[in-house]
Amino acid sequence: MTQAVVVSLLVGACIGLGGALSSLVANRRPGLTAALLGYPGGMVLGIVGLEAIPSAVAVAGLGWAALGFLAGVGAMVILHRLLLHGRPPSPVVDARIRWLRAGFLAGMGVLLHNVMDGLGIGAGFAHESGLGWLMATAVLLHNLPVGLLIGVPLCMGQVTASRVTGYTLLAGLSTPVGALLGGVLSLGSPAGLTLGLSLAAGSLFFVILRELLPLAVAQHRLLAAAGTALGLATAAALRLWL
Ligand SMILES: [Zn+2]
Repeated sequence: MTQAVVVSLLVGACIGLGGALSSLVANRRPGLTAALLGYPGGMVLGIVGLEAIPSAVAVAGLGWAALGFLAGVGAMVILHRLLLHGRPPSPVVDARIRWLRAGFLAGMGVLLHNVMDGLGIGAGFAHESGLGWLMATAVLLHNLPVGLLIGVPLCMGQVTASRVTGYTLLAGLSTPVGALLGGVLSLGSPAGLTLGLSLAAGSLFFVILRELLPLAVAQHRLLAAAGTALGLATAAALRLWL
């Protein structure tokens, strides 16, 4: 279990690298921002559709998976409303607030998703160390783009580079928490696992489609679409290879 927690701590910290990278590349050209949001957006949508939802359904059935997914979407809809509530409309303030809101909601979705990543790593190592390393590799490969998903909108919302790195690192820290839970509960109940997986899937699905991709498209339509397609293709390739 110690091995699983240490490995997930290191793997989770890679999200901070994505955050640090964001401050170097975001805010330069609209096309670059669009591609750098589209790519992780497409990749995470691919992980949600090809990996998280099928596993959730396989563990405890469609009913629990649908319940978790709807709860995840619902929680994000409520947060989304609350975050802009009662603000007087102003185009300049609104642009910045929209980026900040997108970054914050992406962070919440990723936080939930990382607990499930950690749970997978923990369960993998509990089963057999080869499986644990495989899970850790899969998580490692998507964590750099995940850092961009949170980091790029925050940078566009004029958050400083050190804070962006700090926030993304914080989101990554939920990975070892998941590994710890996976070790303690040794997978928990099937219904609980399915709820967790589909809750994270639903919240990310909403945030990417409602917040992040529209912002990317507004920056540069073609490069946002190209980035998203490339991200989806990467997720499909990861699914096939690992
Ligand atoms: Zn992940």
